[in-house]
Amino acid sequence: MKSAVDIARDVNAGASAVEELERSLASIRSRNDELNVFLHVDEEGAYAAARRVDEIVAAGGSAGPLAGVPVALKDNLCTLGVPTTCSSKILDGWRPPYNATVVDRLRAAGAVPVGKTNLDEFAMGSSTENSAFGPTRNPLDPARVPGGSSGGSAAAVAANMTPLSLGSDTGGSIRQPAALCGLVGVKPTYGSVSRYGLIAFASSLDQIGPFAKTVADAALALEVIGGYDPKDSTSLNETAPQLLATLDSGVAGRRVGLVRELVEGSDDDVTRSVDRAAAVLRDAGATVVELSIPELTLGLSAYYLIAPAEASSNLARYDGVRYGLRVDAEDVAAMNEATRTAGFGAEVKRRIMLGTYALSAGYYDAYYGQALKVRTQMIAAFARAYADVDLLLGATTPSVAFAFGSKTNDPMAMYLNDVFTIPTNLSGEAAISVPFGTGEADLPVGVQLLGPGRSEPTLFAAARVLEVAEGR
Ligand code: GLN
Repeated sequence: MKSAVDIARDVNAGASAVEELERSLASIRSRNDELNVFLHVDEEGAYAAARRVDEIVAAGGSAGPLAGVPVALKDNLCTLGVPTTCSSKILDGWRPPYNATVVDRLRAAGAVPVGKTNLDEFAMGSSTENSAFGPTRNPLDPARVPGGSSGGSAAAVAANMTPLSLGSDTGGSIRQPAALCGLVGVKPTYGSVSRYGLIAFASSLDQIGPFAKTVADAALALEVIGGYDPKDSTSLNETAPQLLATLDSGVAGRRVGLVRELVEGSDDDVTRSVDRAAAVLRDAGATVVELSIPELTLGLSAYYLIAPAEASSNLARYDGVRYGLRVDAEDVAAMNEATRTAGFGAEVKRRIMLGTYALSAGYYDAYYGQALKVRTQMIAAFARAYADVDLLLGATTPSVAFAFGSKTNDPMAMYLNDVFTIPTNLSGEAAISVPFGTGEADLPVGVQLLGPGRSEPTLFAAARVLEVAEGR
């Protein structure tokens, strides 16, 4: 499949968006039954969008920077009139009355949304095994998970169904599946991409971002979806950063910190990839220093109080009254209970209970309050590091893609997948995962570049250096 950059250029020059869509739909048809990537394919809407693009170009206009690019959307992004489930039975059958801002922006840029991808229920998980509609398989090895929670969006790009997709990253849900599927995945600065229409999991951590095969495609997508949105009160009041213009600016003169805590405990192949990435950045003119940020090891514990606490509050709205599933009972309280019992899966219930407990009057200070203090310490620790270096380098995940079922009986083992990605969500800063080298069974390894808020131009340029070194 062609890159998004190439498709948009060719479509704006007269190539057919409808034909591009047909290629995408054919590859979805050929592997979706096997991989379970899309929960819903919106052929009618996609054809209408592609035809509109072709008409604009035929009339001599420009159809936008993503003209004719098929895009897959994680099924926690609201799409007008198109089913949006969060992979939960509780939202089965719900059709949102509006589009997420990112969906409107994609469409305005000429992109062609083709459908909605599988995820861990309400984005809670790291393997896409927590979906109420069955797991997604990793296109590179169908016996393994694609990662999660945005596993369907990662698999869509890895299986050449679409060149681009969107996911959401609350604790690593874009970067981790990107690493496991051999893709570029971005967790943008908090507030830089509107969350309007992203179904909330943990609102102080959630950010939408792209998956792509190349750094340039990810940059193009982020340029389109980013920037101020008055509909999101946490949106930064500034325009989206221009990333493509500086993509090849390199890393000469940059200072990069190789962080011990962002590699420790990884498989040898992963450690080797990170070391090799450090060498490549050094050869390209960066100064690489090894450093330690001990506070980062507290991230997982803080996250598993803060994220469930916010989730327990956000998910209170699924009461059988307003959306999706309703299980009738003798009175309203019994109906609420029966609906939530039937509608939520085990992991979602675990998070709601954890969060409710952490927020309860007797335990608030000991758990939620304590976690907020740790979060503040982590923000300060990152700030100290960024006073000395421009970027940080580490692994994205401790291992390559793992086998189905290997972590489903042990929530802690599953949670540990996100040790390296969670700190950036807690600090609200930016990070990108780039495929770099391979590990066990020749599967891809992802290395992670982290930067302060609004450092995306620097991050993308560094990611591009790694990509070029890999011959892409
Ligand atoms: N795997 C983490 C969790 O289960 C992160 C999920 C995410 O980023 N949405 O909470």
